[in-house]
Amino acid sequence: MVRSEILKIKTFDRDNFTCLKCGHVGKRGIYSFYGGMHIDLIADHIIPLKMNGKDELENMQTLCINCNKIKNAKDQSDIAKRKRDENNR
Ligand SMILES: [Zn+2]
Repeated sequence: MVRSEILKIKTFDRDNFTCLKCGHVGKRGIYSFYGGMHIDLIADHIIPLKMNGKDELENMQTLCINCNKIKNAKDQSDIAKRKRDENNR
């Protein structure tokens, strides 16, 4: 199993397979054809790797697909804002 897959399972396990934003509970024990654990939960980097976040459990949170979409949109705007700030320096 690859490292990111182990980290993902550890994240879900720590968070009891529950989305930290909306409380959606993932369906434990349902395996996809690709060998992944869950289809409706995502192990998300709290600080995105693009913003120098660490690829470690402390920087991981369990999100459902919907909450992850919302967060990704926000991260994108945060990254864009950071770039603007850097350019204005
Ligand atoms: Zn959610």
